[in-house]
Amino acid sequence: MKNRIIITGIAGFIGSALADYLKEDVEVIFGGCDIIGIDRNPGLHVTHLQDINDKLPDIQDVYAVIHLAANPGVRDSHKNFENVVKDNILGTQKIIDKCITTWKPNKLLIASSSSIYGDSPIHEPSPKSPYAMSKLACENLLTSYNNCGMLAGINTCAMRIFTVYGPRQRKGLAIREFIDKILRDKTITVYGNGEQSRDFIYINDLCKGIKNLLERYAPPVIDMGTITSYSINQVIHLVTKLIGKEVRIIFEPSNRFDVKKTLSNNKCDDYMIPFEEGLKKQILWQKNEIKESQG
Ligand code: NAD
Repeated sequence: MKNRIIITGIAGFIGSALADYLKEDVEVIFGGCDIIGIDRNPGLHVTHLQDINDKLPDIQDVYAVIHLAANPGVRDSHKNFENVVKDNILGTQKIIDKCITTWKPNKLLIASSSSIYGDSPIHEPSPKSPYAMSKLACENLLTSYNNCGMLAGINTCAMRIFTVYGPRQRKGLAIREFIDKILRDKTITVYGNGEQSRDFIYINDLCKGIKNLLERYAPPVIDMGTITSYSINQVIHLVTKLIGKEVRIIFEPSNRFDVKKTLSNNKCDDYMIPFEEGLKKQILWQKNEIKESQG
Protein backbone atom coordinates (compact mmCIF):
# COMPACT_ATOMS: atom_id res chain seq x y z
CA MET A 1 0.00 0.00 0.00
CA LYS A 2 1.31 3.47 -0.91
CA ASN A 3 1.07 5.10 2.48
CA ARG A 4 4.31 7.06 2.89
CA ILE A 5 4.44 10.84 2.90
CA ILE A 6 7.84 12.50 2.51
CA ILE A 7 8.10 16.02 3.94
CA THR A 8 11.24 18.06 3.24
CA GLY A 9 12.03 20.97 5.58
CA ILE A 10 10.23 19.03 8.32
CA ALA A 11 12.22 20.67 11.15
CA GLY A 12 10.92 24.11 10.17
CA PHE A 13 7.86 26.06 11.24
CA ILE A 14 5.41 24.70 8.66
CA GLY A 15 6.99 21.26 8.28
CA SER A 16 6.92 20.41 11.98
CA ALA A 17 3.34 21.61 12.40
CA LEU A 18 2.25 19.72 9.29
CA ALA A 19 3.84 16.50 10.54
CA ASP A 20 2.01 16.87 13.88
CA TYR A 21 -1.24 17.62 12.07
CA LEU A 22 -1.01 14.72 9.61
CA LYS A 23 0.05 12.30 12.35
CA GLU A 24 -3.09 13.14 14.30
CA ASP A 25 -5.20 12.85 11.19
CA VAL A 26 -3.66 9.77 9.64
CA GLU A 27 -6.64 7.56 10.31
CA VAL A 28 -8.84 10.01 8.47
CA ILE A 29 -6.53 10.23 5.48
CA PHE A 30 -5.49 6.68 4.66
CA GLY A 31 -6.28 4.62 7.69
CA GLY A 32 -2.63 5.03 8.68
CA CYS A 33 0.39 6.61 7.03
CA ASP A 34 4.09 6.82 7.59
CA ILE A 35 5.75 10.25 7.63
CA ILE A 36 9.35 10.48 6.44
CA GLY A 37 11.08 13.75 7.28
CA ILE A 38 14.12 15.21 5.53
CA ASP A 39 15.93 18.27 6.90
CA ARG A 40 19.52 19.40 7.32
CA ASN A 41 18.65 20.65 10.81
CA PRO A 42 17.59 18.31 13.60
CA GLY A 43 13.98 18.19 14.73
CA LEU A 44 11.41 15.90 16.28
CA HIS A 45 10.15 14.43 13.00
CA VAL A 46 13.46 14.30 11.11
CA THR A 47 14.19 10.76 9.93
CA HIS A 48 16.89 11.76 7.40
CA LEU A 49 19.26 14.48 8.63
CA GLN A 50 20.72 15.73 5.36
CA ASP A 51 20.80 18.46 2.76
CA ILE A 52 18.36 17.95 -0.11
CA ASN A 53 21.23 18.64 -2.51
CA ASP A 54 23.07 15.54 -1.24
CA LYS A 55 22.21 11.98 -2.24
CA LEU A 56 18.55 11.47 -1.36
CA PRO A 57 17.35 8.21 0.24
CA ASP A 58 15.65 5.54 -1.84
CA ILE A 59 12.11 5.15 -0.50
CA GLN A 60 9.33 2.98 -1.90
CA ASP A 61 5.53 3.14 -1.52
CA VAL A 62 5.40 6.93 -1.50
CA TYR A 63 1.93 8.43 -1.75
CA ALA A 64 3.00 12.09 -1.57
CA VAL A 65 6.03 14.34 -1.43
CA ILE A 66 5.53 17.71 0.26
CA HIS A 67 8.56 19.82 -0.53
CA LEU A 68 8.97 22.66 1.99
CA ALA A 69 12.75 22.88 2.44
CA ALA A 70 13.97 26.32 1.38
CA ASN A 71 15.83 29.42 2.35
CA PRO A 72 12.78 31.50 3.23
CA GLY A 73 14.00 35.06 3.96
CA VAL A 74 12.82 37.77 1.56
CA ARG A 75 14.89 40.70 2.84
CA ASP A 76 18.24 38.84 3.02
CA SER A 77 17.79 37.05 -0.28
CA HIS A 78 19.90 39.51 -2.26
CA LYS A 79 22.88 39.23 0.11
CA ASN A 80 22.30 35.50 0.30
CA PHE A 81 21.78 34.91 -3.41
CA GLU A 82 23.96 31.81 -3.91
CA ASN A 83 22.34 29.96 -1.01
CA VAL A 84 18.89 30.93 -2.22
CA VAL A 85 19.63 29.50 -5.66
CA LYS A 86 21.20 26.37 -4.18
CA ASP A 87 18.57 25.58 -1.56
CA ASN A 88 15.49 26.76 -3.42
CA ILE A 89 16.07 26.16 -7.13
CA LEU A 90 18.75 23.45 -7.34
CA GLY A 91 17.29 21.68 -4.31
CA THR A 92 13.83 21.62 -5.87
CA GLN A 93 15.26 20.17 -9.07
CA LYS A 94 16.88 17.38 -7.05
CA ILE A 95 13.55 16.61 -5.38
CA ILE A 96 11.66 16.56 -8.69
CA ASP A 97 14.28 14.27 -10.26
CA LYS A 98 14.13 11.90 -7.30
CA CYS A 99 10.35 11.76 -7.64
CA ILE A 100 10.75 10.74 -11.28
CA THR A 101 13.49 8.14 -10.81
CA THR A 102 12.71 6.51 -7.48
CA TRP A 103 10.00 7.87 -5.22
CA LYS A 104 7.26 7.85 -7.90
CA PRO A 105 4.64 9.51 -5.67
CA ASN A 106 1.00 10.02 -6.64
CA LYS A 107 1.35 13.64 -5.56
CA LEU A 108 4.11 16.23 -5.45
CA LEU A 109 3.25 19.46 -3.62
CA ILE A 110 5.90 22.18 -3.52
CA ALA A 111 5.92 25.33 -1.42
CA SER A 112 5.79 28.46 -3.52
CA SER A 113 4.96 31.84 -2.04
CA SER A 114 2.57 34.78 -2.29
CA SER A 115 5.69 36.90 -2.80
CA ILE A 116 5.83 35.76 -6.44
CA TYR A 117 3.00 38.29 -7.12
CA GLY A 118 5.20 41.24 -6.10
CA ASP A 119 3.16 44.44 -6.51
CA SER A 120 1.20 43.15 -9.51
CA PRO A 121 -2.20 44.90 -9.67
CA ILE A 122 -3.71 41.93 -11.56
CA HIS A 123 -2.59 38.98 -9.43
CA GLU A 124 -0.02 37.84 -11.99
CA PRO A 125 3.52 36.72 -11.12
CA SER A 126 5.84 39.73 -10.89
CA PRO A 127 8.61 38.91 -8.38
CA LYS A 128 10.52 41.77 -6.75
CA SER A 129 13.10 39.90 -4.65
CA PRO A 130 15.60 37.11 -5.37
CA TYR A 131 13.57 34.93 -2.97
CA ALA A 132 10.37 35.50 -4.96
CA MET A 133 12.27 34.89 -8.20
CA SER A 134 13.54 31.57 -6.81
CA LYS A 135 10.02 30.45 -5.87
CA LEU A 136 8.71 31.34 -9.32
CA ALA A 137 11.66 29.45 -10.83
CA CYS A 138 10.55 26.36 -8.84
CA GLU A 139 7.03 26.74 -10.23
CA ASN A 140 8.44 27.06 -13.74
CA LEU A 141 10.60 23.99 -13.21
CA LEU A 142 7.48 22.00 -12.34
CA THR A 143 5.68 23.37 -15.40
CA SER A 144 8.54 22.51 -17.74
CA TYR A 145 8.87 18.98 -16.36
CA ASN A 146 5.10 18.56 -16.76
CA ASN A 147 5.09 20.00 -20.28
CA CYS A 148 7.73 17.59 -21.51
CA GLY A 149 5.91 14.64 -19.97
CA MET A 150 8.54 13.70 -17.38
CA LEU A 151 6.04 13.98 -14.51
CA ALA A 152 3.31 11.92 -16.21
CA GLY A 153 1.20 10.14 -13.61
CA ILE A 154 2.13 12.52 -10.78
CA ASN A 155 -0.40 15.12 -9.62
CA THR A 156 1.81 18.18 -9.06
CA CYS A 157 0.90 21.44 -7.37
CA ALA A 158 2.76 24.65 -6.51
CA MET A 159 1.24 26.01 -3.30
CA ARG A 160 1.44 29.80 -3.24
CA ILE A 161 1.51 30.11 0.54
CA PHE A 162 0.58 33.46 2.09
CA THR A 163 1.96 34.72 5.43
CA VAL A 164 1.69 31.92 7.98
CA TYR A 165 1.35 32.68 11.70
CA GLY A 166 0.56 30.79 14.91
CA PRO A 167 2.47 28.85 17.58
CA ARG A 168 6.11 28.12 16.63
CA GLN A 169 6.18 30.90 14.02
CA ARG A 170 9.74 31.55 12.83
CA LYS A 171 11.72 34.33 14.56
CA GLY A 172 12.03 37.47 12.47
CA LEU A 173 8.48 37.31 11.10
CA ALA A 174 6.39 40.38 11.93
CA ILE A 175 3.72 38.94 14.25
CA ARG A 176 6.27 36.98 16.29
CA GLU A 177 8.43 40.10 16.68
CA PHE A 178 5.49 42.34 17.62
CA ILE A 179 4.20 39.96 20.28
CA ASP A 180 7.69 39.42 21.67
CA LYS A 181 8.44 43.16 21.87
CA ILE A 182 5.09 44.00 23.45
CA LEU A 183 5.40 41.24 26.06
CA ARG A 184 8.92 42.43 26.94
CA ASP A 185 7.98 46.17 26.94
CA LYS A 186 10.36 46.91 24.08
CA THR A 187 9.98 49.27 21.13
CA ILE A 188 8.57 47.91 17.85
CA THR A 189 10.23 48.82 14.55
CA VAL A 190 7.91 49.12 11.56
CA TYR A 191 9.42 49.36 8.07
CA GLY A 192 7.39 51.77 5.94
CA ASN A 193 4.22 53.47 7.18
CA GLY A 194 2.57 50.28 8.44
CA GLU A 195 -0.16 50.40 5.79
CA GLN A 196 1.32 47.45 3.89
CA SER A 197 -1.02 44.49 4.31
CA ARG A 198 -0.81 40.72 4.34
CA ASP A 199 -3.18 37.79 4.01
CA PHE A 200 -2.33 35.96 7.26
CA ILE A 201 -3.11 32.25 7.37
CA TYR A 202 -3.19 30.37 10.67
CA ILE A 203 -0.77 27.42 10.69
CA ASN A 204 -3.44 24.75 11.35
CA ASP A 205 -5.64 26.16 8.58
CA LEU A 206 -2.71 25.90 6.17
CA CYS A 207 -2.20 22.29 7.31
CA LYS A 208 -5.91 21.61 6.65
CA GLY A 209 -5.50 23.12 3.20
CA ILE A 210 -2.52 20.87 2.47
CA LYS A 211 -4.46 17.86 3.71
CA ASN A 212 -7.28 18.81 1.32
CA LEU A 213 -4.76 18.77 -1.54
CA LEU A 214 -3.64 15.29 -0.46
CA GLU A 215 -7.17 13.96 -0.45
CA ARG A 216 -8.45 15.55 -3.68
CA TYR A 217 -7.12 16.55 -7.07
CA ALA A 218 -4.55 19.32 -6.57
CA PRO A 219 -4.50 22.03 -9.29
CA PRO A 220 -1.14 22.97 -10.92
CA VAL A 221 -0.96 26.18 -8.85
CA ILE A 222 -3.10 27.34 -5.94
CA ASP A 223 -3.20 30.29 -3.55
CA MET A 224 -3.07 29.14 0.09
CA GLY A 225 -4.55 31.98 2.11
CA THR A 226 -7.77 33.33 3.64
CA ILE A 227 -9.02 35.98 1.09
CA THR A 228 -8.73 38.69 3.78
CA SER A 229 -5.82 40.95 4.59
CA TYR A 230 -4.79 43.10 7.53
CA SER A 231 -2.37 46.01 7.56
CA ILE A 232 0.66 45.96 9.83
CA ASN A 233 -0.89 48.84 11.79
CA GLN A 234 -4.09 46.81 12.28
CA VAL A 235 -2.05 43.82 13.48
CA ILE A 236 -0.20 45.94 16.05
CA HIS A 237 -3.50 47.41 17.23
CA LEU A 238 -5.03 43.95 17.65
CA VAL A 239 -2.00 42.50 19.42
CA THR A 240 -1.76 45.41 21.89
CA LYS A 241 -5.50 45.09 22.58
CA LEU A 242 -5.25 41.32 23.18
CA ILE A 243 -2.17 41.62 25.42
CA GLY A 244 -3.56 44.69 27.15
CA LYS A 245 -0.43 46.85 26.92
CA GLU A 246 0.56 50.01 25.08
CA VAL A 247 3.55 49.94 22.75
CA ARG A 248 6.16 52.38 21.43
CA ILE A 249 6.67 52.22 17.66
CA ILE A 250 9.46 53.63 15.53
CA PHE A 251 9.03 53.83 11.77
CA GLU A 252 12.01 53.09 9.51
CA PRO A 253 12.20 53.34 5.69
CA SER A 254 10.52 50.42 3.94
CA ASN A 255 12.58 47.55 2.56
CA ARG A 256 12.78 47.56 -1.25
CA PHE A 257 11.98 43.83 -1.44
CA ASP A 258 8.78 44.02 0.63
CA VAL A 259 5.51 43.97 -1.31
CA LYS A 260 2.71 46.45 -0.53
CA LYS A 261 -0.18 44.04 -0.24
CA THR A 262 -0.87 40.33 -0.46
CA LEU A 263 -4.37 38.92 -0.86
CA SER A 264 -5.18 35.33 -1.69
CA ASN A 265 -7.88 34.47 -4.25
CA ASN A 266 -8.57 31.17 -2.52
CA LYS A 267 -9.48 29.99 0.99
CA CYS A 268 -7.45 27.05 2.27
CA ASP A 269 -10.52 25.51 3.85
CA ASP A 270 -14.21 26.38 4.40
CA TYR A 271 -13.75 26.56 8.15
CA MET A 272 -10.91 28.75 9.32
CA ILE A 273 -10.08 30.35 12.64
CA PRO A 274 -10.87 34.11 13.01
CA PHE A 275 -7.68 36.21 13.00
CA GLU A 276 -8.10 37.38 16.63
CA GLU A 277 -8.49 33.79 17.84
CA GLY A 278 -5.33 32.73 16.00
CA LEU A 279 -3.44 35.67 17.47
CA LYS A 280 -4.61 34.70 20.97
CA LYS A 281 -3.14 31.22 20.46
CA GLN A 282 0.17 32.62 19.28
CA ILE A 283 0.32 35.09 22.20
CA LEU A 284 -0.31 32.26 24.66
CA TRP A 285 2.44 30.16 23.07
CA GLN A 286 4.93 33.05 23.15
CA LYS A 287 4.08 33.82 26.79
CA ASN A 288 4.91 30.19 27.65
CA GLU A 289 8.13 30.33 25.61
CA ILE A 290 9.26 33.41 27.56
CA LYS A 291 8.30 31.80 30.88
CA GLU A 292 10.26 28.63 30.00
CA SER A 293 13.32 30.60 28.85
CA GLN A 294 13.33 32.42 32.20
CA GLY A 295 13.36 29.05 33.99
P1 NAD B 1 11.56 27.38 7.99
O1 NAD B 1 12.83 28.13 7.72
O2 NAD B 1 11.00 27.40 9.35
O3 NAD B 1 11.76 25.87 7.53
C1 NAD B 1 12.51 25.50 6.40
C2 NAD B 1 13.25 24.21 6.73
O4 NAD B 1 13.94 23.79 5.55
C3 NAD B 1 14.30 24.38 7.85
O5 NAD B 1 14.08 23.42 8.85
C4 NAD B 1 15.62 24.17 7.12
O6 NAD B 1 16.60 23.53 7.92
C5 NAD B 1 15.22 23.31 5.94
N1 NAD B 1 16.11 23.45 4.79
C6 NAD B 1 16.42 24.58 4.12
N2 NAD B 1 17.26 24.32 3.11
C7 NAD B 1 17.51 22.98 3.17
C8 NAD B 1 18.32 22.10 2.41
N3 NAD B 1 19.05 22.55 1.38
N4 NAD B 1 18.34 20.80 2.73
C9 NAD B 1 17.61 20.32 3.78
N5 NAD B 1 16.83 21.11 4.55
C10 NAD B 1 16.78 22.43 4.24
O7 NAD B 1 10.49 27.92 6.91
P2 NAD B 1 8.90 27.75 6.93
O8 NAD B 1 8.32 29.04 7.36
O9 NAD B 1 8.52 26.48 7.60
O10 NAD B 1 8.62 27.63 5.37
C11 NAD B 1 8.48 26.38 4.71
C12 NAD B 1 8.27 26.60 3.22
O11 NAD B 1 7.13 27.42 2.98
C13 NAD B 1 9.45 27.32 2.55
O12 NAD B 1 9.61 26.77 1.26
C14 NAD B 1 8.98 28.76 2.46
O13 NAD B 1 9.60 29.43 1.38
C15 NAD B 1 7.49 28.55 2.21
N6 NAD B 1 6.66 29.69 2.64
C16 NAD B 1 6.58 30.02 3.96
C17 NAD B 1 5.78 31.09 4.34
C18 NAD B 1 5.63 31.49 5.80
O14 NAD B 1 4.91 32.47 6.07
N7 NAD B 1 6.24 30.80 6.75
C19 NAD B 1 5.08 31.83 3.38
C20 NAD B 1 5.22 31.47 2.03
C21 NAD B 1 5.99 30.38 1.67
